Amino acid sequence: MVIELPDASDLSSHVHFTPEQGKVWLDEQRGILQTLPAMAAVWGEIVNSIGIERSRNLFMRSGFRNGQVDAELARKHRPSASITDLFLAGPQLHMLRGMAKVVPSVLDLNPADGHFLMDLTWIDSYEVEISLAETGALDLHVCWNLLGYACGFSSSIMGLSILFKEVTCRGCGDAQCRIVGKPLAQWDDAGDYEIFTSSDSLIETLYDLQARTVSSSPNIDEGEEKIFSTLVGESDVFKKMCAMANKVATSRASVLLTGETGVGKEMIAKGIHLHSDRSEMPFIALNCAAIPQELLEAELFGVEKGAFTGATHARKGRFERAHTGTIFLDEVVELSPRAQASLLRVLQEREFEPVGGTKIRSVDVRIIAATNEDLEEAVKLGKFRADLFYRLNVFPLHIPPLRERQDDIPLLVEFFLEKYESLYTTKTLGLTDRAMGHLLHHPWPGNIRELENTIERGVILTEKNQRITADSLLSGTSEAQSVDIETTIDGLTLPPPTNDSHSSWTDTIFEQSISMEAVEAELVNKAMALSGDNVSKAARLLGLSRPAFAYRLSKLQAPNSE
Ligand SMILES: [Zn+2]
Repeated sequence: MVIELPDASDLSSHVHFTPEQGKVWLDEQRGILQTLPAMAAVWGEIVNSIGIERSRNLFMRSGFRNGQVDAELARKHRPSASITDLFLAGPQLHMLRGMAKVVPSVLDLNPADGHFLMDLTWIDSYEVEISLAETGALDLHVCWNLLGYACGFSSSIMGLSILFKEVTCRGCGDAQCRIVGKPLAQWDDAGDYEIFTSSDSLIETLYDLQARTVSSSPNIDEGEEKIFSTLVGESDVFKKMCAMANKVATSRASVLLTGETGVGKEMIAKGIHLHSDRSEMPFIALNCAAIPQELLEAELFGVEKGAFTGATHARKGRFERAHTGTIFLDEVVELSPRAQASLLRVLQEREFEPVGGTKIRSVDVRIIAATNEDLEEAVKLGKFRADLFYRLNVFPLHIPPLRERQDDIPLLVEFFLEKYESLYTTKTLGLTDRAMGHLLHHPWPGNIRELENTIERGVILTEKNQRITADSLLSGTSEAQSVDIETTIDGLTLPPPTNDSHSSWTDTIFEQSISMEAVEAELVNKAMALSGDNVSKAARLLGLSRPAFAYRLSKLQAPNSE
């Protein structure tokens, strides 16, 4: 049965084009005309960037909001219509917007007792057109925005949560797009509705992705066994460190990991988590240097709806998500004074307040912090709270730099070779002796991460069934380049470093009393110049992580800001 739609001129008469003012209006709201090919390209980029699942959620939420807006419009322009005609303004506005032709076949509703059942067909859904143009037929339903709209409009008119599901969709090869809507409580699986009420906003999605990229340290996805076994190596210093980590894992004490950039702090933190009685619970990692200061507090403790402009939804912070599990805070020295105070409160009282909130939340989270700066020094400088330092420093664990565990290099090389040969589906014959000799004597300022990058490069540059040469390991590294680069400090041209201590430029630095800050500033500036102001590249040149480098760079750019 097809339900007859009422005359739509009461709605369509509110579409206005005022080209002389550069505006298109739907009632009192401004819109724009966009064509499908352009939208298709953007759709494709979004899906490729953030994945199907997140894109679907994003478009559904967008449709949901549009549906809510149109429910207002319907109420305004059909003030005295029957409930059925009022409701049918939804499908009619949807058609007016050019989304699809809507053909309702069942509409049975009674706001008084919350009864609702609707069954309808979409003809020529714009989302089907877009996805077919971009990717061809998919194996899933694609009318995300349309579906969100149906839920938003219906829920708003009915004053209760109505969930629609797409039963068949032309986007995945079905003959037509058909949806069915019922009150949320009548669906067995009501989880889909959470998309509209969840806090998984786009900005959070982007931060998640960013945090994951920044914190994805080597082997974090390896199994539990590998974290404490394959990578332990054989050196005494590393075995001692692992024994300590094992010991503290079973307690609930806070742990402070120290060590240079690239030594694998997140890996150790994850290892401690997996060896604790929280191993089944979430492990949430956050690099405090990777999030802008002004957003860090919101990221950690969440945001209450309306806390600031744009905070249209409450959003859970990392602490809430880490509840009953472990949170790993890398580069903890980056926390602002306010964030430090909040963190101290979590440690002391096990509670916090979201940004803009007044309700106190309790949380049970084990904290593992890490730093590659000297935290005690930061305390002396007044940059880091002493009381927080002592709370975090309950169990300090120093992770030795790679140069102190040279015995482990062959094992690590073997491990990374296996990893990257499998990743690039190739097989080398291993390293030449000269190449291995080079690795054993390299100082590894970037530690394990630098070693891993070096091996990856070697695997990429080496033909199948050939040996990895020293040249292939060195190409593109700071070491290879530094041979040709002369460094200028305070107007003084320095020769490249050599093993002859008399001509070493390090002697010149001491003779001329050039400060450490000046050397660091010079290195940072030079790296930026060499990399064409690309921060990631510049960081790699110095064997630093991007955040660590960015931190040093910001210190240079704002020398008096602290
Ligand atoms: Zn569809």
